Amino acid sequence: MIQSLFREDIKDFIPYEVGEQNYKVRLDANESFIGFSEELKNKICLAVRNIDFNRYPDPDSKKLCSFYSDYCGVSKEYMMAGNGSDELIQIIVNAFLNKDDKIAVINPDFTMYKVYTEVRGGKVITLSSNENFNLDVDSIIEKVNNKKPKILILSNPNNPTGAVIPKKDILKIVEKCKCIVVIDEAYVDFYGKTVIDQISNYENLIVLRTCSKALGSAALRLGFLITNKLLLKEIKKVKPPFNVNSVSQTIGEVILKNKKYIKECINRIIQERDYLYEVLSKIDGLKVYPTEANFVLFESENAEEINRYLLEKGIKIRKFKDGRLKNCLRITAGTREENRVVIKEIEERG
Ligand code: PMP
Repeated sequence: MIQSLFREDIKDFIPYEVGEQNYKVRLDANESFIGFSEELKNKICLAVRNIDFNRYPDPDSKKLCSFYSDYCGVSKEYMMAGNGSDELIQIIVNAFLNKDDKIAVINPDFTMYKVYTEVRGGKVITLSSNENFNLDVDSIIEKVNNKKPKILILSNPNNPTGAVIPKKDILKIVEKCKCIVVIDEAYVDFYGKTVIDQISNYENLIVLRTCSKALGSAALRLGFLITNKLLLKEIKKVKPPFNVNSVSQTIGEVILKNKKYIKECINRIIQERDYLYEVLSKIDGLKVYPTEANFVLFESENAEEINRYLLEKGIKIRKFKDGRLKNCLRITAGTREENRVVIKEIEERG
């Protein structure tokens, strides 16, 4: 039987489910609500025409990295591009974890850290944030050094809570934890405080970035890993040779040239996130958590019903199933119109 060839340890895995994408209002995936401008689309078309489609892409995405370097202020020698930061998470896991090696993650945090570790046969140590989703940094450091994982990975701002860890605390973690520390800055453009500038000061710090959120380019699948030269050399050993296709590299280069446009988009998104936060905070029965990302997390005893009601109205937000997020819903900031619609429906049902 062919099943006898399947891996026993992933037999109960459920593939990542995205669900249907044909909702009237989609505020579930932390995407940007801003499509490319006509001007940008025209520039993209011209650039894409010049691609050598018969050739493999640049394996090191050199030009793309130099544009991202210009965007983020760190030399391209510390950088590697990925097919989304998702791929970079998997590459880090593959580079450092052997079967049964440990990785420490925070609960709650981005679920793919756990998934890639388990697929690799690694062990996940879960460290919890406190009641309001903040971290007790000293306790995290103590637990990490007791359990001795090879990697500690966390997102800052956190997905799905929107909570942040102050820079001095992140650096304390990096300094005191005797392991590789990966800071996933997927939402950093909405927060503004990064540790990317500290890359060459630590031997154990890796920063991840993505173009899927603030840069409005989720369709391209572009992410960046930034770290010191020694770690980068090790990580590159397991990178698939042509991981970022030429179309995405080329479009990424065009977008990253438009820094002013990107800044305007970020400001618009922050404005909508703050609007969503303020209005949700005024609704009785909801506990709304502070956020520095492009989404708002809130808790309600009626989370299940609110979600069902919104789905009936063609509105998709993110409902969490278990543990501390059981009664939580996450809404990505949309256009003002979309935000008004979702709020109106929540007021009616909440
Ligand atoms: N990290 C975090 C914290 C995320 O929320 C996401 C996407 N939801 C990713 C990484 C992956 O982003 P991408 O693969 O689109 O770059």
